[in-house]
Amino acid sequence: MPVSLFNTLTRRVEPLVPLAPPRLTLYTCGPTVWNFAHIGNFRTFLFEDLLRRWLEHEAYDVFQIMNITDVDDRTIRAARGAGKPLLEHTAPFTKAFYEDRDYLRIKSAHVYTPATEYMPQMIALVSRLLERGIAYKGEDGSVYFSLAKFPTYGRLSRLDTREIKVGARVASDEYAKDDPSDFALWKKADDEDESVGAAWNAPFGRGRPGWHLECSAMSLDVIGKHFNVRTLDIHAGGIDLIFPHHENEIAQSEGATGQTFARHWLHGEFLNVRGTKMSKRHGNFLTARDLREQGVDAAAVRLLFFQTHYRQPVDFTDAALESAKEGVRRLGEFHERLKREEGRGDGDGNGPLVDLATTMEDDFAGAMNDDLNAPRAVAVLFDFVRAANRELDKPQPPTGTARGLAAFEGVAELLDVLPTARELDADLARWVDDRIAARAQARKSKDFKAADAIRGELAERGIEIEDTPHGTKWRMA
Ligand SMILES: [Zn+2]
Repeated sequence: MPVSLFNTLTRRVEPLVPLAPPRLTLYTCGPTVWNFAHIGNFRTFLFEDLLRRWLEHEAYDVFQIMNITDVDDRTIRAARGAGKPLLEHTAPFTKAFYEDRDYLRIKSAHVYTPATEYMPQMIALVSRLLERGIAYKGEDGSVYFSLAKFPTYGRLSRLDTREIKVGARVASDEYAKDDPSDFALWKKADDEDESVGAAWNAPFGRGRPGWHLECSAMSLDVIGKHFNVRTLDIHAGGIDLIFPHHENEIAQSEGATGQTFARHWLHGEFLNVRGTKMSKRHGNFLTARDLREQGVDAAAVRLLFFQTHYRQPVDFTDAALESAKEGVRRLGEFHERLKREEGRGDGDGNGPLVDLATTMEDDFAGAMNDDLNAPRAVAVLFDFVRAANRELDKPQPPTGTARGLAAFEGVAELLDVLPTARELDADLARWVDDRIAARAQARKSKDFKAADAIRGELAERGIEIEDTPHGTKWRMA
């Protein structure tokens, strides 16, 4: 069964047809490193991570490119506000993005393209558009893309051509949906740009690239160098990028090459952050490092996101996170149980676990091929856990445990939702022992309120305790 995906360009679920299979070029719009990436950005990156993993599982030779926007209106404003040169301001946020990516178990792209390292390519693209008469220099010294010279503008976002204001101009990177106008490819450098070192010489004047230009120049350069093509197989990003960002990318790229820019356009829906304690510090601005600092297992974040289809909005709440943590714990416990059982009985023979494994794999593939239906795929995994647990509960050990274990690990590792095996550092272990001693003391003096408070304190750090006849035992949840 082929992989089918919803294509924003046609508004239909379509079979994936790459230009030259099994090669598959995937361009995913990356972070703007003016600050830490919001957890909503990571929802998009996690959907793209799952997409990539599934395509690789389906034997595609995926080549993923992600940009790092380290020069645009926001980064310049933020650098200016911090009183630092542009790259000095953005470098720590770029580093933080890679750390957050690793924390959330997101596979590294094959190529990351920081915008400031692709200036010659951007200048060449603007020159080409000027040569072809699709771009022009405005009297303000900036270079603009002329919508009037690109009749198919608005196809991706389904803008009505009547809404397009021919000749109207906009310089800002972000502009309103109802304001399609000639947009800036290259902005004449002003004092603010110069003060943070965000200005480059170009034949058409000293300035800096518009945000939209960056993705076109970098993606075309990378696929051109690696594969000698001008067309991406998949271009993905958040739904907010459809207009104007992706619309402008199409205009710039196709205006310059005369070829289709991307065959499939995929967009992930928003994440709403509501009612989380963790986001209180920053209004509703919740970052991946907030979660990491709270000791949240990345597996729970992944599971939470994958339980909703990428084209549906998700609410990130404490309750949703708690339930995802519980789900991850159940998967971890089942995994341990299956590993213990594997040695018993006939590991490979026929039997209920073999049948359950085959059903799971087929249903999982069916769900993923159907526009990356991760919530259905997750449900299939939990159905397997329930049914296999019932078999394992029977007095006679089931056959086919090795097959069951392999299938479970295959699916759970593709989603990457098994709990992190945590190494305890010595300081934490000493702290836990100290708290357990204090709790024992409180119990001894019948101060159960204090004892419960300590249990809660331990639970906050992911430590579960169990009172046994031989004393209190503990483990990382
Ligand atoms: Zn982009």
